[in-house]
Amino acid sequence: MAGMIVAIGIPGKEETTMPYRWPADTVFTHIALEVEERWCRACGHPLTVCDHRQRRLFTLNGPVHVVCKLAHCPEGVCPAHTQTVSPEAETALAMPWWVLGWDVVCWLGHRRFTRHWSVGQIRAELADTYRIRVSDDALEQYIRRYQQMLAARWQDPGLLAAAYADVEAVSLAIDGLQPEKGHETLYVVRELERKRIWFAEALLSSATAEVQQLLAQARAWAERLGKPVRLWMSDKQDAFVRGIAAEFPGVPHRYCTNHFLRDVAKPVLEADSHAKVKLRRTVRGLRAIEREVLAARRTPAPPQLSEAQAQETRSPEAHTETVGREVVLDYCTAVRGILNDDQGGPRHPPGLRMAEALGEVRASLQRNLEAKKGALHMSASRVWPAISTGG
Ligand SMILES: [Zn+2]
Repeated sequence: MAGMIVAIGIPGKEETTMPYRWPADTVFTHIALEVEERWCRACGHPLTVCDHRQRRLFTLNGPVHVVCKLAHCPEGVCPAHTQTVSPEAETALAMPWWVLGWDVVCWLGHRRFTRHWSVGQIRAELADTYRIRVSDDALEQYIRRYQQMLAARWQDPGLLAAAYADVEAVSLAIDGLQPEKGHETLYVVRELERKRIWFAEALLSSATAEVQQLLAQARAWAERLGKPVRLWMSDKQDAFVRGIAAEFPGVPHRYCTNHFLRDVAKPVLEADSHAKVKLRRTVRGLRAIEREVLAARRTPAPPQLSEAQAQETRSPEAHTETVGREVVLDYCTAVRGILNDDQGGPRHPPGLRMAEALGEVRASLQRNLEAKKGALHMSASRVWPAISTGG
């Protein structure tokens, strides 16, 4: 970063974003930065201050007003004369065009990716605790920048060499992921010994030639590390099979068991889905039963009596009927829950679970019927509680 030259006046991509509007009563801490290098690199002449750049930033310690003293070589004949030098320390506070300092960017990146906070949660916490008010849009942009920085660090050759210092050979995997339907596919190359993502690239087509470039890049990485490739792992996509054979001749290529199982599971899930449709078609009429029970329940008790008095004066048969209605409604709720339960993969097929649960309901109803038959001569009030626990 030392002596980084910033071309003033050439609009950066970020310049098109809206400048942040600071409230009039914002209190800033003032910082002045100067160029560390005193002499021109081209001719050795002392640099002179030619301009000031004012920047305002959020830091976790409060708003900061930075004055950057820009310098240049005053010698008109010097080839470096037209170049403006910025204070090196500026980028340690924040990157060009950023309104959030590095400390804030690191803070929000950590909250987003390690703690899995939502953007809204981060925005609220920034406002409440640090009095930093930024829009969701802006936050998302900073989160993307954080990801770029993180990716750059993970790909840093020096750090990578250190991580692989005591690894004998690397094992590589490639897979195409589609974050959303219709989006381009993101191809991810991972290394399995250190469980690191090496790099990822969004490709518009899965043509062999494009995939081949990624494989060539993986080979370059392995060569730079000086490690042999022990094996490749991927699904049986044609581009992978051909590409790996071409780029890594002699390296074993294993097909991923996860993909294999998923393919095997497909017909299981299809059959299960048919079974579910059939079950739903068979078990019908819940709403009609519920409507009937609710209509019966609405028949009012004698108005001159309180609920307790009504309870006392009601016949045991009436009481039994009241409890019975509630039990019927409970059954309806349970059955509806069973029919709506749609969760589960091939190892716990939802249709199978639905059939089992409906079987339990049927068994429970059967137990009730038998209990009722056996207890016809007993007091009815002792029958219903037995039924409700039986369900
Ligand atoms: Zn010069």
